[in-house]
Amino acid sequence: MQTIFIASTLYTPTEEIREPLVTVEDGVITSVTSRAETSTPKNAEVVDLGKAILAPGFIDIHIHGGAGLDVMRAAASDLPRLNGFLASHGVTAYFPTTVAAPLDDTCKALERLAGAIEAGEKSNSGDPAAKPLGVHLEGPFLSHARRGVHPPEYLLTPTVETFDRLWQAARGHVSALTIAPEIEGALEVIAEAARRNVCVSIGHSDADYTAAQAGVHAGARHATHTFNAMKPLDHRDPGIIAEVLTDDRITADLIADGIHVSPSVVKIFMKAKGVERAVLITDAIAATGMPNGKYQLGPILVDVKDGMCTMEGKLAGSVLTMDRAVRNVTQFAGWNLKDAVRAATLNPAHAGGLSTKRGRIAAGCAADFVVMTPGGEIAKTIVGGRA
Ligand SMILES: [Zn+2]
Repeated sequence: MQTIFIASTLYTPTEEIREPLVTVEDGVITSVTSRAETSTPKNAEVVDLGKAILAPGFIDIHIHGGAGLDVMRAAASDLPRLNGFLASHGVTAYFPTTVAAPLDDTCKALERLAGAIEAGEKSNSGDPAAKPLGVHLEGPFLSHARRGVHPPEYLLTPTVETFDRLWQAARGHVSALTIAPEIEGALEVIAEAARRNVCVSIGHSDADYTAAQAGVHAGARHATHTFNAMKPLDHRDPGIIAEVLTDDRITADLIADGIHVSPSVVKIFMKAKGVERAVLITDAIAATGMPNGKYQLGPILVDVKDGMCTMEGKLAGSVLTMDRAVRNVTQFAGWNLKDAVRAATLNPAHAGGLSTKRGRIAAGCAADFVVMTPGGEIAKTIVGGRA
């Protein structure tokens, strides 16, 4: 059965197509044209999205939870609630992200998440639900000086042996690793993780400029929540931030909630990394979409009040949603919606090492779409071509 999607505008997201006509079969896009070029085939189901914009589903490569669920603690049977919540904000794929915790607890969480990832590969329930594609290990190989709220007692010295233990627990479903490149043993782990096609991301780091470059040389290709949990930029002691902002070999991500990084600095970041390399993440925690209160982030208890997540005065994740991050970038950095969407779709797919079937609207790609208003509000999310 063919399904035809028509809308007012489409972001591939590198190109904009007016009056698009997208054909989907069995959850896969088979053609992308315009109504001017192709007439609607007979016998096909037509989904007319009216004046809406059709864009690829958002991909969040750094998220700890939402809708009251923490990815390290949630039972497998509860994850669909998070997946539905994420889809309601335009996210169709994500990397559930761990925090530093006792190694045994982390391994148990990784086993559960591996199960959810494997189940997601098979299922297409029909309900719009985001799919976990791979785990992001945020820690345990972080700098004590820049640990943020990650508990110091659970930070570990990087060794290939410990990394492999985590890898085995996740049954190989490790897609990203945040690591401080300057700590002893880090370069060896970076090289080994890169060899296994993990997106190695430098972050939670006190690295100077040279040490950050060494991390990239060893195989890191991304940077985690730029500015947050990094040695601050000093014009005479540039450090990791200068490396992240100036090295075109690496992509980098940012929490564009206006709290973690002020709007003017969001603008600096978007200018420095540009439309090809800027990636939006949420770093969202269980409290996202929930009332003020106390919420778990792995082993950490976080106070949430009016959009601020803190533990003993330190920022502890966010309640940002990806659709809001996209809208914020149009406001804070003056980007057009198409480029802002790219930072939430194609760029994270590329940074996260996902197949070229994700993050784009093109023949052969997964039929995961967001349907947006011109103001960037989510009208509908479509997963696997099911409208
Ligand atoms: Zn995080």
